[in-house]
Amino acid sequence: MNYNKKTIYDVSVEGKKVLLRCDFNVPQNKETGEITSDKRIVAAIPTIRYLLDHGAAVIACSHLGKPKGEWKTKLTLAPVAKRLSELLGQEVIFAKDIIGEDAKAKAAALQPGQILLLENLRFDIREEKNGSDFAKELADMADIFVSDAFGTVHRAHASTAGVAAYLPAYSGLLVAKEIAIMGKALEDPKRPFVAILGGAKVSDKIAVINNLLEKADTIIIGGGMAYTFLKAQGREIGKSLLEEDRLDYAREMLKKAEERGVNFLLPVDHICAAEFAADATPVEAEGDIPADMMGMDIGPKTAAAYAAAVKGAGTIVWNGPMGVFEFDAFAEGTRAMARALAESGAVTIVGGGDSASAVEKLGFADKITHISTGGGASLEFLEGKELPGVACLLDA
Ligand code: AMP
Repeated sequence: MNYNKKTIYDVSVEGKKVLLRCDFNVPQNKETGEITSDKRIVAAIPTIRYLLDHGAAVIACSHLGKPKGEWKTKLTLAPVAKRLSELLGQEVIFAKDIIGEDAKAKAAALQPGQILLLENLRFDIREEKNGSDFAKELADMADIFVSDAFGTVHRAHASTAGVAAYLPAYSGLLVAKEIAIMGKALEDPKRPFVAILGGAKVSDKIAVINNLLEKADTIIIGGGMAYTFLKAQGREIGKSLLEEDRLDYAREMLKKAEERGVNFLLPVDHICAAEFAADATPVEAEGDIPADMMGMDIGPKTAAAYAAAVKGAGTIVWNGPMGVFEFDAFAEGTRAMARALAESGAVTIVGGGDSASAVEKLGFADKITHISTGGGASLEFLEGKELPGVACLLDA
């Protein structure tokens, strides 16, 4: 996969109409529709500002929620248009449809420096099905395509990949940053390269572990998925999370790590509980876990060993919490890991989803080189998969 792609800096946008795929999939209050976090809209501003300031007319588009091809008024992008307009300090023209008469007329009349937002792309079923007629009609409104919604680049949808068949395609600043930092980490990392993988299930991270075993010098395992590996090694794991059908895979990965000389670290002690609850009493266990207990977090010895393994690293990639960090009593392992990253001096990359929210919740976000904005997309990136929304961009 080539991560070296043309960006908006590589093209003159003056006088051009730019179809800009944004990630305006913002969380909303279910009753009132009020936007509860405008983080994603704020994140889109630099690319939009750059385009407008350089004489482009911007036709912005995004999905919101999962309307699955139905016109659901609750999922209109109108509130996003309003918030975007406040943040930009200028009018955001809003189209009542996507590729209908209103959108086409407004796009045709759009002047340099102006911005139009189309209605929710997923109101049309052809968006997710990557319908070529739909993609072409979207593309026909513009001169070039700019992809800035990293959270959807792993999807081959009309607005993320399909339009690139009809328009020259460039990355916006958000996508450019994601692929530059993560692409470098995977292709040419500053070594030692340490990957930390946690979260609930082995099955979710199989492809990631397999891919990273070929690239990393050290792999650190925590979270619920550690117990399947420990069981595979013959440990007692009590009532801990176990994926029986992944035991063979776990053995295979342990063997692969040994063959490749990858330092593969598993927890040596645990914070356990008798039940999965926020108010459960934390109990420390070393080695085996008692039959009536489940592992909820890595223990202090493990946390210290993991922090030591991270020290001196050149590149660290982290995906998935070390324990049930949503419960305060079982958040210490994840906190220790976040602190170790923050203090490491390495290029630190935190994959989206739960690990990103853990780092934010625990207050270490500003000490991390890059927190990916795409959960599924960053996971597929780490799997080494080709991302359709990146592959379709022009090579630099
Ligand atoms: P993932 O989405 O795969 O990154 O998993 C994140 C989830 O894994 C979080 O909600 C954690 O609470 C959960 N998790 C982490 N460690 C454990 C554990 N030891 N037992 C059960 N769930 C866990």
